[in-house]
Amino acid sequence: MQPYPATIRGGTEQPIYDAIFEAVLDQRLAPGTRLTETRLTELFGVSRTIVRMALVRLAHDHIVQLTPNQGASIARPSPEETRAVFEARRMVECAALPAAVARALPKQLDHLRALVRQEDAAFHAGDVKSWIRLSGEFHCRLAALARNPVMLHYTTELVTQSLLMTALYMPPGQTTCATDEHLALIDAIAAKDERLARSLMQRHLDACEARLALDRVQALPADLAEALRVRRRRAAAAR
Ligand SMILES: [Zn+2]
Repeated sequence: MQPYPATIRGGTEQPIYDAIFEAVLDQRLAPGTRLTETRLTELFGVSRTIVRMALVRLAHDHIVQLTPNQGASIARPSPEETRAVFEARRMVECAALPAAVARALPKQLDHLRALVRQEDAAFHAGDVKSWIRLSGEFHCRLAALARNPVMLHYTTELVTQSLLMTALYMPPGQTTCATDEHLALIDAIAAKDERLARSLMQRHLDACEARLALDRVQALPADLAEALRVRRRRAAAAR
């Protein structure tokens, strides 16, 4: 199972990647926020090269947009792009289900059920960032049951893209991925009911898309350091 999100972890740019990705999931950084290399260099105390490495990886994962002569900003997916990603997810995730039904092991389904319990706990604790990440992880681990690395790659990329869209367009206090729908999917796979699993996935992704408020506009943060929680991180590291 590859790490989630999809890109390779562990470089010197990882703390910057994580801080920006988490701030987006936590709805602290709004789409369109400018990320200047100079400011990020100051905030993280690293070289421009490391900042650029983080920005390139974030752009690869569709979290950041790199525009020639303008620099980097948090990606601002339009309602049309959001609909296109969900349409592609329905195709790819439904297509992986016959192999998932044929190849899933009972132990893997137990792990998925445990993941859904964590999702539920994060949602009820108001931990939006963990909940969005866990709901994405559920979809990637479900696709992994098919044991087809190519389909898993596409699923992971599309799910990562839709995490940003969920953080952007999800009304506060709402949920897009309902945990009872996730449990019903696991039950259909456990029962080896391919038709039911496909129909549940189709309806689930339709519902996830329908629960997003595509006309929602988020306020921009006043201060990048505050949004990235950099001062607190550096102060904690110095203690
Ligand atoms: Zn879901």
